[in-house]
Amino acid sequence: FTYEVAPVFTLMEKYVVNKMLGLAGLSSGDGIFCPGGSISNMYGLNLARCKRFPEFKMDGMTSLPPLRILASEQAHFSIKKGAAFLGFGTKSVVPVKCDVRGRMLTSELEKNIQMIKSKGEEPVCVVATSGTTVLGAFDPLCEIADICDEHKLWMHVDSAWGGAVLLSKKHRELMSGIERADSLTWNPHKMMGALNQCSVFLTRHKDMLTKSHSTGAEYLFQPDKCYDVTFDTGDKSVQCGRKVDVLKLWVMWKSKGDKQLEKAVDNALDCAKYLANRMADTEGFRLLLQPEFTNICFWYIPPSMRNEKEDEGWKTRLSKTNRLKEKRV
Ligand SMILES: *Cc1c(COP(=O)(O)O)cnc(C)c1O
Repeated sequence: FTYEVAPVFTLMEKYVVNKMLGLAGLSSGDGIFCPGGSISNMYGLNLARCKRFPEFKMDGMTSLPPLRILASEQAHFSIKKGAAFLGFGTKSVVPVKCDVRGRMLTSELEKNIQMIKSKGEEPVCVVATSGTTVLGAFDPLCEIADICDEHKLWMHVDSAWGGAVLLSKKHRELMSGIERADSLTWNPHKMMGALNQCSVFLTRHKDMLTKSHSTGAEYLFQPDKCYDVTFDTGDKSVQCGRKVDVLKLWVMWKSKGDKQLEKAVDNALDCAKYLANRMADTEGFRLLLQPEFTNICFWYIPPSMRNEKEDEGWKTRLSKTNRLKEKRV
């Protein structure tokens, strides 16, 4: 596209970012489209570090004490990947224990923070997950926000998967407390149905994307252009060229409207509930958890194993059976 058209996409990006900030209960802030949720999560980790240690941008890691990131043991693997890529190191990610449904235990979070501090290390960021990848669990955001306030920690919410509930009046309470987050990841290419890739990173801090990433390349971001240079949002990205990922989301949102998107989310959760109920009363299927979201975790128990003692040996055999193509009876 030409430079005359570029501002149109920036305008779309601003519009959609503001809309999504509003849905997350944030009255202002900033955001950027990223090539996937893993990268959005990296933005969260980097901003947390830059906020706490502004000198990091120039001086790098050698200027800092050992940093720690707290994330639940069910958190997405991109947190570890991000920690490796950004120079924190995978060991800096401290796993926090979860309850049986996969939600972060805040008493454990508190314990872990104390433990980190007692070793002279610096906790910088807590990553909460809204909609874990395997169990579909939503971490208790309000309680986590209280702990982050108390210890002055950045709270990043990985709602790559679960963010869609913010579109639903009925289900948005799963993420109550999101309005207290410092940043969040939301992938419209998941439940909202946008085409891959479409991921948004949002933050309540208006200036942090720019502060953390800008280098002010003079050949690109000259102040004397023929259009309003506040449209030059490129400097807050860690990329140079970017795909116009906002376009497909903007077009989809315009054509479906808030109502259709809300209906799709409500319908997905209704279908999940229906499937869970069917599974609970269908012979040979064992529902393992009442679902919080659309992830249904179950075992299929073949007829030959149905009335046997369910000891460890049985479980080992079952886990092999589920991998085999079974003749259904
Ligand atoms: C899918 C997912 C991601 C990663 O998103 P990509 O767009 O695949 O990089 C991160 N976190 C959670 C919770 C996810 O479900």
